[in-house]
Amino acid sequence: MINIKGLLRENIKPLKAYEAKEIPCKVKLDANESPYGISSKLLANLGSPKSQRLFGALNRYPDPEAKFLKKLISRDLGVRLENILHGNGSDELIYYLITTFGGPVLYPIPTFSMYGIIAQAIGERRIEIPLNEEFDLDIDRIPGAIRKERPKLIFLSSPNNPTGNCFSSDRILKIIESTSSLSIVVVDEAYQPFSSKKGFLPLLKDYKNLVVMRTLSKIGLAGLRVGFLIADAGIVNEVDKVRLPFNLNSLSQAVAIEALKDRKTMKSYINSIISERERLFNELAGVNGIKPYPSEANFILFKTEDPDRIYKGLLKKGVLVRNMKGVVDGCLRVTVGTPEENTVFIRALRQMLGSK
Ligand code: PMP
Repeated sequence: MINIKGLLRENIKPLKAYEAKEIPCKVKLDANESPYGISSKLLANLGSPKSQRLFGALNRYPDPEAKFLKKLISRDLGVRLENILHGNGSDELIYYLITTFGGPVLYPIPTFSMYGIIAQAIGERRIEIPLNEEFDLDIDRIPGAIRKERPKLIFLSSPNNPTGNCFSSDRILKIIESTSSLSIVVVDEAYQPFSSKKGFLPLLKDYKNLVVMRTLSKIGLAGLRVGFLIADAGIVNEVDKVRLPFNLNSLSQAVAIEALKDRKTMKSYINSIISERERLFNELAGVNGIKPYPSEANFILFKTEDPDRIYKGLLKKGVLVRNMKGVVDGCLRVTVGTPEENTVFIRALRQMLGSK
């Protein structure tokens, strides 16, 4: 009998498969997805002769360079084509970055779990530095850790998942500047479309060790799995060496192109989520025993005395949120949904806890 465990690389042994269980619910507010799918106009287009041609060409491999999609992204973000690399979601780009440059990999905690999971899967050392009380970068500890550990990669999710805030720009900048010849700093801007703060794209021309990551997952296209990294062409060319040749399938490329052309609809969905986030924050602040944290993303982290009871109680009423108690003490995370979904959520919470 083969001993599978005996064959495993040591670094795989402590890993657990990523849990993305489908939990039945009426209102799904657990995964930071957009509540808005593709527009009806776009859906209708999928029956057009152009789409028929696409479906007819599925015997062929996709465009390995995703040229047309990258052209659109290049125009939308105001960056050059040679500075963009496409991924099957930004998850894949995290894999590629760590595969290309190796570790140690440094990131603050709590943050997006995949930086640590992928570093572990690839067998690289992880350096985790707790955020300070305000969920900002601990600028007393990070520079020392960088000098001592010399990380090849530093991942900064800003806005940060799950805390929702942006890190202070001057702290991010200080890290980029102080490590310019040592480390690559990846600013993961998955939630930037919802933020009032300026992102880091304009700084790419000044800092050769800066990588910015973006994704279509939070703006209505999570099912397509499309992400991008934007960086100096020197970095893009190296990471491109480990990219699987056909990492973005034809259907994802085609649908993403059509969806991105409809900028007006995309923008209106984003604006609705931002204004609902403000309403949700105020409503949460008015519920007994709830402390919401300000957010620049499409979700809100909130503290309660008994997160398990609230999580289960909400689910009983059909509302699924994310229990973050193992990550941030006493906290749950709710994704901003449609106005109706948010109202169902708030009503359910008020029924359990009452108003202030
Ligand atoms: N970065 C952050 C900070 C995220 O929260 C997520 C999704 N939860 C991702 C990246 C992954 O995005 P994608 O769907 O593009 O792989």
